[in-house]
Amino acid sequence: MIICWAGALIITGVTSGLPSTCLVGAGLGCCAGILQRYRLVAEPEKFEQAETALAVRRALTAAPSGQLAVLLGWVSAALLMILALRSGSPAAGIVIWFSGYIAFMLTRDLIGYTGLDRANQLATSRTIYQQLIAAHDLDEYYRAGGTEPAPRFRVSVRFDNGDAREGGFYMPDEGELPRVFIYRAGLMDDGLSRALDLARQATDPLHELLWFAHELGHHQVVLHQIGTGIRDDHKPLESYAEEVQAWAFARQLLSPTPFSAWDELKRVSSRSLETYETGWGLDPATAANARERAEAVLERSRLTPVCS
Ligand SMILES: [Zn+2]
Repeated sequence: MIICWAGALIITGVTSGLPSTCLVGAGLGCCAGILQRYRLVAEPEKFEQAETALAVRRALTAAPSGQLAVLLGWVSAALLMILALRSGSPAAGIVIWFSGYIAFMLTRDLIGYTGLDRANQLATSRTIYQQLIAAHDLDEYYRAGGTEPAPRFRVSVRFDNGDAREGGFYMPDEGELPRVFIYRAGLMDDGLSRALDLARQATDPLHELLWFAHELGHHQVVLHQIGTGIRDDHKPLESYAEEVQAWAFARQLLSPTPFSAWDELKRVSSRSLETYETGWGLDPATAANARERAEAVLERSRLTPVCS
């Protein structure tokens, strides 16, 4: 679309000698673009699932900033028309109006486009999230005709309305199945719903994916027999090491996928580790040392996620 606007602007600009309406259009387009970008960044999840032009417009006008951006489009069209009418000849007026309006749309879309990143990241995360659940959930294994014994990397995926130090919870195999709970505020999981269906309904697929990958990381720590998978406040250094390793495995699980929100993963993991450091009273030097040693264990033995 942006290329079309640029092409049209060059053609009309050359034929009309780039009139002042281009400058006016570009200026107003700048304002509309900033408003559009603001709207996209504020609620990317609304745009992520909008598949038609009408749905995008509905998402855009669901807040005052978006409504103002749309209004600016109409105001620009009218203002440019007044400027064009003053040019004298109707034929020249149409070209002058048209080049100004294209300049408006080009700058608006160029700036607005930069806000699409987050919506795209959410869309990609939703796909990866569902694939990761399908690939690790025990129920999905049996649904697909899998026979016993199920592969050890499979876990029972459940949801819970929790608000603990993590966005999820891992429960190792203690006579029962290893389980991963994903926390979602306000969700009452009756245990009957298919985890994959609940994942499809996620309003924040990026963060649920990050925490799911992290809790799977805890399971990998247990599978590799380098930890217990149980948080123990009496053994803060050991538990802290498992936290670090669970995030390292999460990164490894996500790295072969099209996942791109690495900055967000770093932010979420750092914040979670800091919460543990504070809770367990680990000073920065001790924590840094423990992180280094925990990651060295994975590197030395070249441990990679067990996925078969
Ligand atoms: Zn953890």
